[in-house]
Amino acid sequence: MTKTDMMISKRAQDISPFIVMDVLEKAQEFERMGERVIHLEVGEPDFDTPECIKEACLRAIREGKTHYTHSLGLVELREAIAEDYWKKYRVKVSPEQILVASGTSPVLLLLFSALLEPGDEVILSNPYYPCYPNIIQFADGSPVYVDVMEKEGFQYLPEMIEEKLNSRVKGIVINSPSNPTGNVMESERMRKIVGLGIPIISDEIYHGLVYQGEAHSILEFTDQAFVINGFSKLYAMTGWRLGYVIAPKEFVRPMQKIQQNLFISACSFAQWGALAGLKEAEEDVQRMKEVYDRRRRVIIPKLRELGFGITVEPTGAFYVLANAKKFSQDSYRLAFSILNEAKVGVAPGIDFGTNAEGYLRFCYANSLENIEEGMARLKKYLERYD
Ligand code: PMP
Repeated sequence: MTKTDMMISKRAQDISPFIVMDVLEKAQEFERMGERVIHLEVGEPDFDTPECIKEACLRAIREGKTHYTHSLGLVELREAIAEDYWKKYRVKVSPEQILVASGTSPVLLLLFSALLEPGDEVILSNPYYPCYPNIIQFADGSPVYVDVMEKEGFQYLPEMIEEKLNSRVKGIVINSPSNPTGNVMESERMRKIVGLGIPIISDEIYHGLVYQGEAHSILEFTDQAFVINGFSKLYAMTGWRLGYVIAPKEFVRPMQKIQQNLFISACSFAQWGALAGLKEAEEDVQRMKEVYDRRRRVIIPKLRELGFGITVEPTGAFYVLANAKKFSQDSYRLAFSILNEAKVGVAPGIDFGTNAEGYLRFCYANSLENIEEGMARLKKYLERYD
């Protein structure tokens, strides 16, 4: 162990990298060397933030709304979020149940920091969104995984959750539409999970991006739940860093105290922009959604043609988790080999858990032209397996 290693905390040494970001950063290195890379790895909209949101933000800056806000977030924004949940799901939440932070990622840190004692367990599906276990462990908790099967659309079987229940379990995370699978959970399954009687943390960040059927908020079934949501995906605002949690009232103050100390408040003018998003961006959101759906309908058959396995077609978010075992069992090596040789960024399944090993996640939040180019490059790359 070097002297520097001894200086670095175990917590920092232990946290895993977010591999998708490593792929993106390697891709950016190629771009700096003048290569054209097709990005199907990172989960962010290719669209620019809608104009009405940008305008509202600029107006806020010009009007001097450049100070700290309430540590829970602007009351106007929290009212609009409550209204949005009423409009979309007919659930009543009050602005006092909402905390706005600089992205859903910090919200996850605030929430798990407020809930977990060392050794407390949180149930996750495997595959999962990579940051969940990393943040849970960072907050001294332990992720406990429930295997989910491809033929079930990688959805929980409630009876398999039941087997993991014990007094240390503090909650279960659900994420529908899901990253990395793009699948949407049916209401019956949600109801059964609620019936297990454990607190549910429902990551609803891909709500609104559903192309068939509909996504339900967990709050339609129980008020003993924590909803995580944000503006990054639906409003194409990844760089603005804005997310929120809706929690039972008694949990808000503990999270607020952590927020006050760690972050004070979310960015003021970003919040004014987001408020305009909720009030004025419906048409833009619909337009983006239609375009994603068109891309989804193009990429799924193309991937199948190339030999990738897709058992349950994704109907939400902007991801396809495709079985690539025909080409390699080692998704990390395969993803970097595709990047190095074909200059196409894809996310290795292993980033999302052992049950996604041998899979690649494709993000279709990119133009049809780029998707076609990416598929053509992949076809050429995969010729070696003929
Ligand atoms: N949850 C899920 C499931 C996600 O896919 C993402 C973004 N990749 C996040 C949370 C974090 O989003 P943000 O911090 O940009 O709000």
